[in-house]
Amino acid sequence: MITLLIITILTTIVGILERVNGPFSLVWLTNAISIGLLLRFYQHVNWRHFLVCTLGMLIPDYLAGTDAHQIVIMTSVNIITIWLAYNCLNRFASRSEENEWLCTLYSVPQWLLLCQPALIGSALLGAGGLSAIFGKPFLPTAVFWYLNESLNFIVFLPVILTFPKTSRSSDDHFLSTLRHFLPSALLLFAFIFIKSEVYFLMAAILIIPTLIWLALSGNLFLTTFGISLNGAFFFIWIIHASHRHLPFTENIYLSVVRTIVTVLALCALTIAVAISERDKLFSKLSKLADHDDLTGILNRRAFTKAAEAAISSLKDNHFCTLVLMDIDFFKRINDEWGHQKGDKVLIEFCRRVEKIIPDNQLFARVGGEEFALLLSTASDKYNRELAELIVKEIARTPLIIDNEPFPLTISAGIVKKVAGQKYETLFKYADQVLYQAKNNGRNQCREYLQVENVSPMPDFTPSVT
Ligand code: GH3
Ligand code: MG
Ligand code: MG
Repeated sequence: MITLLIITILTTIVGILERVNGPFSLVWLTNAISIGLLLRFYQHVNWRHFLVCTLGMLIPDYLAGTDAHQIVIMTSVNIITIWLAYNCLNRFASRSEENEWLCTLYSVPQWLLLCQPALIGSALLGAGGLSAIFGKPFLPTAVFWYLNESLNFIVFLPVILTFPKTSRSSDDHFLSTLRHFLPSALLLFAFIFIKSEVYFLMAAILIIPTLIWLALSGNLFLTTFGISLNGAFFFIWIIHASHRHLPFTENIYLSVVRTIVTVLALCALTIAVAISERDKLFSKLSKLADHDDLTGILNRRAFTKAAEAAISSLKDNHFCTLVLMDIDFFKRINDEWGHQKGDKVLIEFCRRVEKIIPDNQLFARVGGEEFALLLSTASDKYNRELAELIVKEIARTPLIIDNEPFPLTISAGIVKKVAGQKYETLFKYADQVLYQAKNNGRNQCREYLQVENVSPMPDFTPSVT
């Protein structure tokens, strides 16, 4: 609530300062940013938040000595706009399962439509108030107001809504962000340094492919942020560059620029939302293809692929250990307790093993109740001990199924990779010792002992006798 108050006050101060001085009087950010914050945290929003927004707008305006009539009209219209937009969007706009806004291809037209009550309402009320008190012409003022708010809703509001919840910081992600953002950053520099109107126009046209390229990144925040930066510069500099020729104090020119920026933003936003939806779908599908439905761990196909790659990239003097595990007498569990309970046992078993093994180890369900683990920690002894620990730990501490202890044992076969050995061979050996562990009474771990390939010394010459 305090954040909301501070942000409302700050954006209102910017608005008040710019009201007098030119280009920034084009953007009144308070409404868009407040709506964005309210929608972001919609689970906690109540009437107090709207009161905070009202105070955040009233206080700076009052301290700035603005005319009392103007304060009342402006603040009432703004708070009604915020309330209308928040309610329409919160009730009817689509949200993803993870509570993300702008999540489907239809989000942008839907967004546009749902913003209309707030846009039209604010334009009519604002123009009505201004014409009643200051005698401004109703229709042009309403159009001016409508276009101003549309720009705010389309260009600035989405930045708040798409602001990332957590920072993903893989190298790939950083590089892709940079690749997509670079043209935009160059264009911003161009806007700053270009003095000639002709070159300025060229730079202004380049905003179109730049925004499309940004949108193609599929990163919604990057795109909305880029749109607002480019839009703002485009705005300021088109006015600055044409200053001497066009009477930009007149509403019609401002409205034209606003419409251009809003339409450009809409196009980029639509592409970005479509690409981001496609990317999310793609990663969902590839996750589904690689993971087991029931337990959520890797499936056999993905494990085989990853293990083959890990083993073939392993240097000859590095170790890894393949562990195959099979739950003992699982058929009986199914017969006695039912298939559903059996499924829960499988899920809980995986959670337990995941707790025991270090991160980044390959763990998969390779059969009905058979599991594989590729341990590639630094120590071979540690790998063996870990496999033994899993077997002992499962036998010692029963799983908790439906809030009740559920005793279980497993058998395991392990094999350490020696130089030049392939995954297939390792799997075969581990399976053989697993079979031995079963025959030997179950609830135990067996290791396949293989002779290391000792390569002959380079200066060794075999002698024939
Ligand atoms: P053993 O100790 O020799 O391993 O005996 P076992 O009864 O566990 O024998 P086996 O490993 O052959 O049993 C596999 C059983 O696992 C057969 C099948 O009914 C059951 N099963 C396979 N997939 C699933 C599953 O997804 N859910 C459930 N509930 N059961 C499954
Ligand atoms: Mg079994
Ligand atoms: Mg089995």
